[in-house]
Amino acid sequence: MRLIFLGPPGAGKGTQAQRLAERYSLVKISTGDILRDAVSRKTPLGLTAKSFMDQGSLVPDDVVIGLIRERLKDSDCRSGYVLDGFPRTVPQAEALSKILEEQKTTIDRAISFEVPEQDLIRRLTGRRSCPACKRAYHLDFQPPQQPDRCDVCGERLIQRKDDREETVKNRLRVYAQETTPLLKYYDEQKILSKIDGRGSIDSVMNHLLEVLKGVNKGQK
Ligand code: AMP
Repeated sequence: MRLIFLGPPGAGKGTQAQRLAERYSLVKISTGDILRDAVSRKTPLGLTAKSFMDQGSLVPDDVVIGLIRERLKDSDCRSGYVLDGFPRTVPQAEALSKILEEQKTTIDRAISFEVPEQDLIRRLTGRRSCPACKRAYHLDFQPPQQPDRCDVCGERLIQRKDDREETVKNRLRVYAQETTPLLKYYDEQKILSKIDGRGSIDSVMNHLLEVLKGVNKGQK
């Protein structure tokens, strides 16, 4: 199964991609994760990407397309994958179609996770994580026992730079402008399904599994 997960930042696509990948032994390919890793290792890719990411802007198309082109050649992709956060622009989607054509494969389904904007802002600006053990928290939904401290290792929690309110608003603007045209792109290819991304992680996962059952039967 080869899937694309679309949806604004904070819609929960990374979480769902992770769970689905574990369940079906798919590879989760997140351009955001690959870029963050490059930034933290200060590689040439990371040095290029950092300023775009800190502002909540998109990294240039040629950079992410090159990265995905290489990643999809890896042998672990043969058993299927979930693309989380790619494509994000029409040129990226067109480049992906070309790569898939070269590989003589297709995408089975593009899933759009839909969440209202005020929920997204609350979800994103409340996220915190532990820099030591990487445990994730949310100030409203999963607060630490002591303010700002990790329950497990006691480290001071941090906020991703791009989860600050102004940057979040920019990321949402960029999504509306650059990424929403992809809904039409994949709808025209008859592979788009929309999922309500509100509610618990489990309920969204159940809905996703329902939609994917239809994929196996060749239905929408
Ligand atoms: P994410 O974790 O998917 O929200 O991505 C974090 C940041 O990485 C984004 O705000 C962009 O700056 C960058 N990024 C991730 N994926 C892409 C992409 N497909 N195209 C351009 N920039 C991306």
